[in-house]
Amino acid sequence: MSRFVYADHAATTSVAPEVLNEMLPYFGPAYGNPSSLYSLGRQSADAIANARARIAAVLGAKPTEIFFTSCGSEADNWAIKGVAKAKAAQGKHIITTVFEHHAVLHTMHALEKDGYEVTYLSVDSEGLIKPEELEAAIRPDTILVAMMYANNEIGTILPIKEMAEVAHAHKITFFTDAVQAVGNIPVHVNELGVDLLSLSGHKLHAPKGIGVLYVRTGTRIANLIDGGGQERHRRGGTENVAYICGLAKALEMAVAKLPEMTHVKAMRDRLANEILKIPHTRINGSMEHRLAGNLNVSFEFIEGESLLLLLDMQGICASTGSACSTASLEPSHVLLSIGLPAEKAHGSLRISLSHENTEEDVDYILEKLPPIVARLREMSPLYDGQS
Ligand SMILES: *Cc1c(COP(=O)(O)O)cnc(C)c1O
Repeated sequence: MSRFVYADHAATTSVAPEVLNEMLPYFGPAYGNPSSLYSLGRQSADAIANARARIAAVLGAKPTEIFFTSCGSEADNWAIKGVAKAKAAQGKHIITTVFEHHAVLHTMHALEKDGYEVTYLSVDSEGLIKPEELEAAIRPDTILVAMMYANNEIGTILPIKEMAEVAHAHKITFFTDAVQAVGNIPVHVNELGVDLLSLSGHKLHAPKGIGVLYVRTGTRIANLIDGGGQERHRRGGTENVAYICGLAKALEMAVAKLPEMTHVKAMRDRLANEILKIPHTRINGSMEHRLAGNLNVSFEFIEGESLLLLLDMQGICASTGSACSTASLEPSHVLLSIGLPAEKAHGSLRISLSHENTEEDVDYILEKLPPIVARLREMSPLYDGQS
């Protein structure tokens, strides 16, 4: 029996029907500009205020600390460049990690061209970093630490609360890219103690093209877009009312579904145990400090791209490396960072499950994957049939 199995939830997710419902009025009769003073406009302004309050409540923030952006990448760019600019007189040193999303890494490269100095903390073979390593990298001119909460490729979860404590002991601003964490694990800004946090709608069943930057009251950050005074004068531009409302609904639903992650983890573990029975296979990243739905495996002697194509022919969507880098043949910087040689990084597969997946999906992947791996190995000049 052939099926369609979507197992790439770390790349994007479907828009939930309830989310779409919440959005529809703002594409239709409720089209007022939130800045207009008549009631049609006020209806939009009220909808945004309501969404902002609901999102703040989920994150444990104040509504005035929630800023809407066009995506997670924009929130990442703003957090880093905004703090770098606001604190430049104090110092020009920033600390991040080698395995951040490109929205963070490439922002750092841009700042290096502008005279900032960036330290990239390395991760161990499990994809983890210790707070002592952050402590050791801090200098008198360090102004910002940017460290992801959960990695998008190998799913490792970093000890952000402890990291933020280290940064704050030195009066350094702390930003976390929580795009993969929000909706997968509980995220509360005060428990974490972070100053800035980014999230993205399309990773949690809201549409593509909406994000949030949380900015703790008192955090110094330059404005992003000069314009009509929206987002408390920090990010001008008429608000994306529909998407903002959709995001609030999606976030509430994601948090309500967090208990289902126990089942997602059980499915992921079954998948991992069965896949490991295939010879010359390894799991990348820590199994202990890891998002419930993430599995990243390397199959020696094969190419991830060929594997994806054959899986696609069976109706299975997964990914190799990160979705953003599938257009290039560069091995994933995340897999290289945990010490994988390039050839093993090439033969990697990321399966990311969510509460939408079923045991039947897992059965289907386990039925189709092993013969595909065997077939590709038979065609590989590197594989001599050993097992
Ligand atoms: C997807 C992702 C982003 C980028 O979010 P977009 O909304 O797609 O721009 C940033 N960081 C991480 C960790 C991600 O997984």
